[in-house]
Amino acid sequence: MYTDLKDKVAVITGGSKGIGRAIAERFGKEHMHVVVNYNSDATEAQQAVDVIVKNGGQAVSVYGDVSTEHGVQGLLDAAIKHFGGLDVWVNNAGMEIQAPTHELSLADWNKVISINETGVFLGAKTALRYFKENHKPGDIINMSSVHEQIPWPTFASYAAAKGAVKLFTQSIAMEYAKDNIRVNGIGPGAINTPINAEKLADKEQYAQTVAMVPMDRIGKPEEVAAAAAWLASSESSYVTGITLFVDGGMTLYPAFKDGQG
Ligand code: NAD
Repeated sequence: MYTDLKDKVAVITGGSKGIGRAIAERFGKEHMHVVVNYNSDATEAQQAVDVIVKNGGQAVSVYGDVSTEHGVQGLLDAAIKHFGGLDVWVNNAGMEIQAPTHELSLADWNKVISINETGVFLGAKTALRYFKENHKPGDIINMSSVHEQIPWPTFASYAAAKGAVKLFTQSIAMEYAKDNIRVNGIGPGAINTPINAEKLADKEQYAQTVAMVPMDRIGKPEEVAAAAAWLASSESSYVTGITLFVDGGMTLYPAFKDGQG
C-alpha cells in the first residue's frame, strides 16, 4: 500500500479485463477513485467497479473508444464530474492482429495503430492539458510491451506501435518534466490475460512461451498492477521516462541463458 495514493483520481483505459482490470482493482485497494473505461464489455467493467468499492475505493465505469478524441474526453469529464479532478492517467487499452506483413490489410494496420499508438497519444494529450491548465502535478503511465524492444514477426503493426509508445513516452517525459508531470511506460512480457488466452491454452504454445522466460513462468496481471501502483505513487517521485519491464527476464536475451554463443 502507498498511503499517498488514497483519494487520488485515476483513469484506466481498457480497465474491464486483463491487466487494466488488475490495475483498477489494485488502485481500489489503494483507496483511489477510479474511472474504469471499457469499449465492449459493460458487465465486466461494472464487476471491476464493484470490486473497487468493496476494497475501499470509489469507481465508475465509462464507455469510450480510446482511438477517438471524444472517447478520451468523456473519461476526463467523468473523472472531473464524479471525483473532482485527475491525478493519474493509465493508457492501458491495446489489441493485436497477427498476419504475415505482406498480407496485412491497411484497415488492420490502421486499427492496431489507432488503438495502441494513437490511443496513447490522445489519452496522454487529454491528461497533459488537464494538468497544465490546472497547474497540477500528474502521472501518466503508458502500457507498452517487451515488443517495444523485441521485434515480433507477423505482429509488425503491434511492435511498431509499441516502439512508438516508447519514444512518445520518453519525449513527453522530457517535455513536461519541469511541470512536475511524470510519464513512464510499463513493458509486460507474457502475462496471463484474455489477449493471449487462446495461445496459453494450447500446451505446445504455452511451453514455447515459458521457454522464452528466464523465470520459467507466465506472469500475473497483478504483478503488472504492482508496477503501476509504484509508478503512480510518490515512492517513484524521481522516476520519469522509463519503461519498467515486468517480464520475468524476457528482455534479457534468454537464448543465451545456458552460456550459448
Ligand atoms: P486484454 O485484451 O485482456 O485487455 C485489453 C483491453 O483493452 C480490453 O479491456 C479491451 O476492451 C480494451 N480495448 C481494446 N480496444 C479499445 C478501444 N478502442 N478503446 C478502449 N478500450 C479498448 O489485454 P491485456 O493483456 O490486459 O492488455 C493490456 C495492455 O497490456 C495492452 O496495451 C497490451 O498491448 C499490453 N500487453 C499485454 C501483454 C500480455 O501478455 N497480456 C504483454 C505485453 C503488453
